[in-house]
Amino acid sequence: MVVSGLVPRMSALDGESFSALWPAGGIPILWLLVRGARTVSVDSALLVAAAYAANLVAGADLGLAAVFAAANVVQTWVAVLLLRRWCPRLWGCGGQAPLDRPRSVAGLGAALVVAIAVGTGIGTAGALLLPDQVPGGFGTVDVALWFGRNLCAALIVLGFGLLLGQRITSPRPRPSARGEGGVIELTAALTFTVGMYALVFQFDDLPLTFPLLAASVWVGARFSTLVSASHSLVVGLVTMALTLNGTGPFAGVDDVALGYLLAQLYVSTIALTGLAIATGRDERVALADELRRTREAAVYEERMRAAVIGSMTEGVLVVDEAGDLLVQNEAAARALGMAAPLSAGTIAAIESTRLDGSEVTKDHQPSCRALAGEAVYDEQLLIRIDDGTERVLTISAIPLPRDEINARARALMLIRDTTSDHANREELSAFAGVVAHDLRNPLAAIDGWTEMIADELDAGALDAQLAQEFVSRVRSASRRMRELIRDLLAHATSSARDLDVGKVEIAALVREIAAGRHAEGQVSAEHAPAVLGDPVLIRQVLDNLIGNALKYVAPGEQAKVAVRGARTDARWVTIQVADNGIGIPEGDRDRIFEEFHRAHYREYEGSGLGLSIVRRIVNRHGGTISAMPNPEGQGSVFEFTLPAYDA
Ligand code: ADP
Repeated sequence: MVVSGLVPRMSALDGESFSALWPAGGIPILWLLVRGARTVSVDSALLVAAAYAANLVAGADLGLAAVFAAANVVQTWVAVLLLRRWCPRLWGCGGQAPLDRPRSVAGLGAALVVAIAVGTGIGTAGALLLPDQVPGGFGTVDVALWFGRNLCAALIVLGFGLLLGQRITSPRPRPSARGEGGVIELTAALTFTVGMYALVFQFDDLPLTFPLLAASVWVGARFSTLVSASHSLVVGLVTMALTLNGTGPFAGVDDVALGYLLAQLYVSTIALTGLAIATGRDERVALADELRRTREAAVYEERMRAAVIGSMTEGVLVVDEAGDLLVQNEAAARALGMAAPLSAGTIAAIESTRLDGSEVTKDHQPSCRALAGEAVYDEQLLIRIDDGTERVLTISAIPLPRDEINARARALMLIRDTTSDHANREELSAFAGVVAHDLRNPLAAIDGWTEMIADELDAGALDAQLAQEFVSRVRSASRRMRELIRDLLAHATSSARDLDVGKVEIAALVREIAAGRHAEGQVSAEHAPAVLGDPVLIRQVLDNLIGNALKYVAPGEQAKVAVRGARTDARWVTIQVADNGIGIPEGDRDRIFEEFHRAHYREYEGSGLGLSIVRRIVNRHGGTISAMPNPEGQGSVFEFTLPAYDA
């Protein structure tokens, strides 16, 4: 500050006790801001001392120097406090932001104007109270000159200092660099500035200051705020130096003090204009950056949403009341058995029934109910697919916020294909019912017979023959239970077990099964092509069919079973198991493959599960099975296909 006091010393107006140039007006404010100084601190004490010394150096008498120093200190502190209050986000004033908003420039300008007005007031009062220390008197021009030199200095020093300080301490890449001129343009702008100033300062007698503003506008509009502030600093110094030197349009004014005042006003104007234009551009670029970032974030969100919805296994649809599909995923098309993408109106056109067979009217469709504002959860509906099959879909439909732009209600639909779950559940409950029923019968028989044994024992009338009879009945009932449990287990595991395929020789397998059943004489096996299958499961198929063929014969008749196989096409081997048994009533030929269905339940024991296991195993190998009357006379033929081994 003392050093800066030398500048005014050199620029002191003749006969004046204060100076036309006063950089000390801005430097202490910047110093206190950057140091984060408090009102009572070493910095404040130094400020008081330096202000007093600087005023002495500048040539003021002891008393006047004290008043001017007080004016300087008060002005500096008012500026610091106002800047901290009005521009708290600015670097140096409590925040980290650069001077990049016109609003900040306005805050800066206002704080300085108020603070310097206060300082000017104190200075003026001092000068008026000590008239003998102010030789030339203290008039209106002097007041304006005091105010002007301080404002001019403070604007230039603070604008430049705050920008430079922020840039040095936070060297992050500036996003606002886009849209700025390059080195070539900067060179051109500087050349233009130098040229203009050279030209204008040539003509002392012409008021040619306005072209100079063009240079500041150019630099402010096309370069960073720091470059613009530096430009204003240099141009301001040059203008003041040339004016003090008696050169240029401001020096041409008759009243020298008025000339200085005009020069200061001019410098303040270009500093403010440059800052306002540059920060306006900074703000525009920041907004454009913000917009771009928001747009990028929106695109990312959209992609993310599409990826998440697309990878869901549950069908997701958003429909509106016009039938448009606003969101859809492939799982939805899959569940509905249609090709993706689904087209508008698809959902409204789907016809469905409830599981009990009753029809669902249009108004009761889940989508319509959700569009009317009702939330529908896990409703099971039966729909017919294009290929003729039926599916059980579990649908939830939830109302969404209304589309206010198009004035349409919207709803979210979640669709799951639960056909197999439903079938499994049905099967399980049928299974449980039959299990309970069929196991209870032999159990009741065992109970009954053992009760009779106990009664006879009590009566002391149990002879060995009767006991043997009772025991054999109990054993037969328990054997039936055991067989039923075995079949139930086989049924439960026939679909769960993974296929372990390999080469299976049918004729050899048939001979093994016949030997196991001690029925070699009754079962014949012709040579058949090898099949590709799971040997354990295929043995189960043949064992069931041969077992049935041996079982379902008329009483007293000798069963005859023939197994043969032939290649029917390139990929399949057809195997027939023919018998001479009692045959199957026509109406039962398909149904005997269903669980627990028995055509001859009175005369023959059984669980009704064997053929359903057989069909399931054949289906799992990709083949089919059917039963037909034996064309060679009485009995039946069971015909099924399996993949050929060498295909
Ligand atoms: P189960 O033999 O335990 O009753 P299956 O599922 O093996 O159960 O057979 C279902 C029904 O099909 C039998 O109850 C029987 O009425 C009929 N059936 C199966 N095989 C033959 C056959 N070879 N001849 C006549 N009827 C048969």
